[in-house]
Amino acid sequence: MKQTINEIPLNKELHDVLRQLGIKDVNPAYSTGLAWGGQGSGTTREIYSPADGNLIASVSMASREDYDHVVQTAQEAFKVWRKVPAPKRGEVVRQIGLKLREHKEALGKLVSYEMGKILQEGLGEVQEMIDICDFAVGLSRQLHGYTMHSERPQHRMYEQYHPLGIVGIISAFNFPVAVWSWNAMLAGVCGDVMIWKPSEKTPLAAVACQHIIREVLAENEVPEGVFNVIIGDAEIGSLMSHDNRVALVSATGSTRMGKKVGEAVGARLGKSLLELGGNNAIIITESADIDMAIPAVVFGAVGTCGQRCTSTRRLIIHENIYDQVKDRLARIYANLPIGHPLNSTTLVGPLIDKAAVDAFRDALDKVQQEGGQLIVGGEVLEGRGYETGTYVTPAIVEADNNYATVQEETFAPILYLIKYSGDIENAIDIQNGVRQGLSSAIFSTNLLETEAFLSHRGSDCGIANVNIGTSGAEIGGAFGGEKETGGGRESGSDAWRVYMRRQTNTINYSREMPLAQGIRFDIMD
Ligand code: NAD
Repeated sequence: MKQTINEIPLNKELHDVLRQLGIKDVNPAYSTGLAWGGQGSGTTREIYSPADGNLIASVSMASREDYDHVVQTAQEAFKVWRKVPAPKRGEVVRQIGLKLREHKEALGKLVSYEMGKILQEGLGEVQEMIDICDFAVGLSRQLHGYTMHSERPQHRMYEQYHPLGIVGIISAFNFPVAVWSWNAMLAGVCGDVMIWKPSEKTPLAAVACQHIIREVLAENEVPEGVFNVIIGDAEIGSLMSHDNRVALVSATGSTRMGKKVGEAVGARLGKSLLELGGNNAIIITESADIDMAIPAVVFGAVGTCGQRCTSTRRLIIHENIYDQVKDRLARIYANLPIGHPLNSTTLVGPLIDKAAVDAFRDALDKVQQEGGQLIVGGEVLEGRGYETGTYVTPAIVEADNNYATVQEETFAPILYLIKYSGDIENAIDIQNGVRQGLSSAIFSTNLLETEAFLSHRGSDCGIANVNIGTSGAEIGGAFGGEKETGGGRESGSDAWRVYMRRQTNTINYSREMPLAQGIRFDIMD
C-alpha cells in the first residue's frame, strides 16, 4: 500500500521540505532513474526521527526480485552510457550539481532531521555533494593514462582507462548522502552505472536525492538504469557483494560489515573499496598552541554527536600540559548546547537510536571497570525536549590506550584522555597502537615534532593533519584509511582510478615484427 507524505504525522515545515524535494510517496522499494517501483519483500521499515521521535516514513524493503530487476536494468544502461563521451557525462553531473544547489536548504534539513546531525552539518554535507560534482566535471575531461617509450623501434605504448560496469554503493547512516555522491559522481563520469543501497536507517534522504536528480536525468535522456537506488538492509548489501555482475562494491560502514563484504567480493575476485571504522587521535605536544587545539578537539569529539568516521576518540597529551587541557575541556563539556538538531543554537544533536545510546552507556561502564576515570558527561538526558531517550551528554574519560574499550570504535561521543611523557616518538607509538588507521592529527609549533609525525615513522593513518583536527576532510584529497579502516580511497586526487579498468596498449607502426626482450622467433610458411 502506498503511503503519501500527507499521511505522515509531521509538522508542516517538514511536509514542505518533502514536497520541495518532490517526494509524494515514501514507499518505493527502488528507483532506476525516472521509474519508481518494486514488489517489495513484504517487509516495511518505519523511520523515526532521532530528534523528536516522529514517524517520518514507512519504506518498503526491496525483494530479491526487485534487486535482480535493478541489476538487469543497470546492465542494459551500461551498454549505452559507456558510449557517451566522458565530458558529456560530466555535463550531466554539472547539472546535478546545479540542482543540488537549488535544493541545498531542503535536503540539508531532511538529512539533519532524519539522521540527527545539526542543520549546519546537514547543509555542509550537501555542500560536499556540490563540491564533488564540480570536481567530477573537471575530471571528465582528464581521465588520463601514461604513455611510455617502447624498446622496439616504431612502436608506441600507452595506458588507457575504461569503465568497469556496475558499481554497488553501500552507505552508512552517518553520512546519508555525501558518501553516495563521492562515489556516484566520479563513477558516473567514468562511464559506470551505479546501484546505491543507502543505510536502512536513513533511506528517505536517498529517496530525496533520486527525486532531485530525476529532472536532470530526464532532460538529458540519461538511460533508465544509470543512477539506481535500492532500499534494503544488510541482505541487499550481501546480494551485491556476492554478485558477479557487480564489478566494484564500494562499502562504507563498520569494520565488521567491511570484513564480510571484503570476504564475499574477494572470494569472487571482484573489486572492493572499503571505507570502515576509525579510532582517531589528536596528539597535543608541549609546544602546541592550546587555544587553537581546544576548539578543534571539541568539534572533532562532539560534532555529529561523535558519529563521524573521523570523530576524535583519543587525545594524547604531553604530561606537562595534561591538567590544563583536561580542565579546559571539562569546563566546555559542562556547557555544551545539546538539543534538537534543527534549532540554530544547538551544537550537539541526538544519537541515531536507542541501540547507539546503549552502546555509549556500555562502553562507559566497561572502561570504568578497566580503570578509566569519568571526568564529565555520560548521562542520558530526560525531560522536555529529550523524550526520545537519544540525547546524551558527551563524555571525557581518563584512560589507558591498552584498555580493550579504548581499542574499539564506539560510535558515540566519548573522548579518552591519554597522558604521554618524553618525546614525540612515545606519542606516535600510542597514536598508532590501535587496529584502525583512518584519521590523525598533531598540534605542535615545533617543526621537528610535526615532521616526525608526518614521516615514514610517523602516523600510520590515511589522513594525518597538522594543527587542524581529525574530522572535516576536503573533497580535493583522497579520503580513506589503512589497517582495519579497509585501505580504500575515494573522493579527490586520483581516487577515480578505482572506478575504471586499466589497459596497456602497444601499437606497431612499422612493417617489421620485432619481439620484446630481443627474442627471435623466425618462422614463415
Ligand atoms: P554498518 O556497518 O552497520 O552499516 C553500513 C552499511 O552496510 C548499511 O547500509 C548496512 O545495511 C550495510 N551492511 C551491514 N551489514 C552488511 C553485510 N553483511 N553485507 C553488506 N552490507 C551490509 O555501519 P553504520 O552503523 O551505518 O555506520 C557507522 C560505521 O560506519 C562506523 O563504523 C563508521 O566509522 C563507519 N563509517 C566509515 C566511513 C569512512 O569513510 N571510513 C564513513 C562513514 C562511516
